[in-house]
Amino acid sequence: MSLYAELHRHLGGSVVPRILWRYFQRNRPDLSDRFANYAQFEQFYTQPKQSLEEYLELHTLVESVQTKEALPYFIYRLIRGAYIFENLAYLELRYTPYYRTPEHLSETERIDAMAEIVEIVGRASHQSEYPVVTRQILCTHSRLPYAVNRAIVELAAQYPDYVCAIDLAGGDAAYRERLDELVGLYAYAQSLGLKTTGHLYETVNGCYPELLPYLMRIGHGIQIPLRYPELLKQVAVRGQCLEICPTTYLQTGTLDELAQLKDVFNRCFDAGVDIAICTDNAGLHNVRLPFEYENLLTHDVIGFDGLRACQAAAFRHAFAWPHEAPPAAMLSDLLKGDPAAKSLSTRFDQTEIELR
Ligand SMILES: [Zn+2]
Repeated sequence: MSLYAELHRHLGGSVVPRILWRYFQRNRPDLSDRFANYAQFEQFYTQPKQSLEEYLELHTLVESVQTKEALPYFIYRLIRGAYIFENLAYLELRYTPYYRTPEHLSETERIDAMAEIVEIVGRASHQSEYPVVTRQILCTHSRLPYAVNRAIVELAAQYPDYVCAIDLAGGDAAYRERLDELVGLYAYAQSLGLKTTGHLYETVNGCYPELLPYLMRIGHGIQIPLRYPELLKQVAVRGQCLEICPTTYLQTGTLDELAQLKDVFNRCFDAGVDIAICTDNAGLHNVRLPFEYENLLTHDVIGFDGLRACQAAAFRHAFAWPHEAPPAAMLSDLLKGDPAAKSLSTRFDQTEIELR
């Protein structure tokens, strides 16, 4: 039996359309009334977008309803779905806490309100009926002022039980003019002992070698093998893992077809760079992690060996997986203890001897 680790999933994009629609109908009819029916809403929500910027706009819609009162509702359903339908044993959930605080408050008040959001998300993620090891990644954001981003980094350090790392998100074209500031934020995070990932080398606008040395994992990073393969050697030496989210690149128009990922995987495998396959925005894409795996196999992007290597890499590079081995290793040992399995394997051994 396989259980999986998901390293790159946004809280905003993780709400599947049906759950969001029901929530709108019950609590925000002003939003559901904009659509004639569910089918029209689903199409609006999940259809591919022209660019990363347009795609990110949809996050704002979901963020606006993920208030502190509503967060437990969404997170309960998210963890339930992850356990029942996706076989997740481990989930890192990322978001920008500032965008879950009330908009009418001042910047300082919103900064102060972020801690409560982290606690609410942390408590709602632990459910005894659906036991998934869950941690938060707090996203600094390219559209937020420096003071807010610095406060997000400090908040991450204050909640080691809930938060496992920081990220950099938002439109990547906007990094350019704030590069020194972003480098400073990552250096500050490292000085606080935080783990790091960041949306980098996702699109052609997001290639900033200055930020690369600060990351333990690279959010997407597909432009490295595609356009800057000479960097792969350094990436391998640093032990950085790429978080690759196949459906995203079609949704944002970054790639035209999945087959283009074949070079990404092959060049990384050849260079010894690990890849974790992730969903990014499972709800927004209306897909689940096992589908991403199967889709890569179906399109002949990778084979089963490659897939298993990526699944194992996800547990190795997880920031807070609490065990030595992935769950498959532990479950295999358990299953070996099953008397029926034992007698079967003895019979197989016997047959093998007889055949020799
Ligand atoms: Zn992302």
